[in-house]
Amino acid sequence: MNLFDVYPLFDIEITKGVGCRTYDSHGIEYLDLYGGHAVISIGHSHPYYVQKLTQQTEKLVFYSNSVINKLQTELAEKLGKISGYEDYSLFLINSGAEANENALKLASFHNGRRKVIAFNKSFHGRTSAAVRVTNNPKIVAPINEGFEVEFFALNDIDGVKKSLAKGDVCAVIIEGIQGVGGIQTPETEFLQELSKACTATETVLILDEVQSGYGRSGKFFAHQHAGIRPDLITVAKGMGNGFPIGGLMISPKFNASHGMLGTTFGGSHLACTAAIAVLDVIKAEHLVENAQKVGDFIIEELKKLPNIKEVRGLGLMIGIEFDYPVKDIRNSLLFDKKIFTGASGTNTIRLLPPLCLSKSDAQYFIDQFKSLL
Ligand code: PLP
Repeated sequence: MNLFDVYPLFDIEITKGVGCRTYDSHGIEYLDLYGGHAVISIGHSHPYYVQKLTQQTEKLVFYSNSVINKLQTELAEKLGKISGYEDYSLFLINSGAEANENALKLASFHNGRRKVIAFNKSFHGRTSAAVRVTNNPKIVAPINEGFEVEFFALNDIDGVKKSLAKGDVCAVIIEGIQGVGGIQTPETEFLQELSKACTATETVLILDEVQSGYGRSGKFFAHQHAGIRPDLITVAKGMGNGFPIGGLMISPKFNASHGMLGTTFGGSHLACTAAIAVLDVIKAEHLVENAQKVGDFIIEELKKLPNIKEVRGLGLMIGIEFDYPVKDIRNSLLFDKKIFTGASGTNTIRLLPPLCLSKSDAQYFIDQFKSLL
């Protein structure tokens, strides 16, 4: 059987990873400024993480959500504490798309409405209910069967308010920082007004922090730069440092009932062990603060370089936009300089490194990048 060919692949096989470095099957070392698409939060093969997962594997790998799993409780407590959402509840799933799918479902259970507001160039995953649109015309699909979706330009508060005032919008879903859409951060005032308007019209505000969360922006969640508290927050990617896990954080205004949401694999013992280890390391090694510090440094240095149209982002979620396609620069970075980066659309390089990136690695990247430009 062949693999279903949906991914354009680099001709590189990664066989090992340590911290911010990966190694291919020929032993060539790469600086990883992509983190497997924002997934590697605490660094590849962190010894504490590896130890915890190994110990758990020796004990019990899986049992379903029909018995007490104290690892889920420990994870919820630690996540609540580190993120400042101790009064919220946690529902565990396996991916970002599932987190958003369950968020939309919960929102419609809550207010009985079916209309969703989303934003141009947003990306919320690839299930039928998770709203999605990207700036790549090849992968724009029919949105979904169950929800009617209205799109607005990011920061168009007047348009959104006018729609919300009709009183029939179930939820507004918005990324903390748009990732696929090109590293666009919603304006602080826009988020504050949006939050107020959602509360006033009993619309559920869903913050998709799948890519921008878990410390990447220099705060635990990107929306915390605006000081708002959404009704639902979705997380995944960096949550398990590569182990598949997603979460839906739920405000106390939602009441749970048995059977309301459910999943077979969500919150498994191994997934929770990985996620707890990630939070322990983020706290012990001050990785949120590091993301802020090293991210500020990279952004400041990039802004001094010539030929760049715009540098955007917060912390270690950085977009570098050019007036022309970045394919050749990315290929040179990867094949000549041995540095992994990502892209948003055709003209923007996207940096999503592990949150433990050191200033000297950041400087190394700047020097190599400068030499290419
Ligand atoms: N939401 C955002 C903001 C994302 O960037 C992604 C994935 O890139 C998703 C949701 C979907 O997550 P997953 O691929 O884990 O389903």
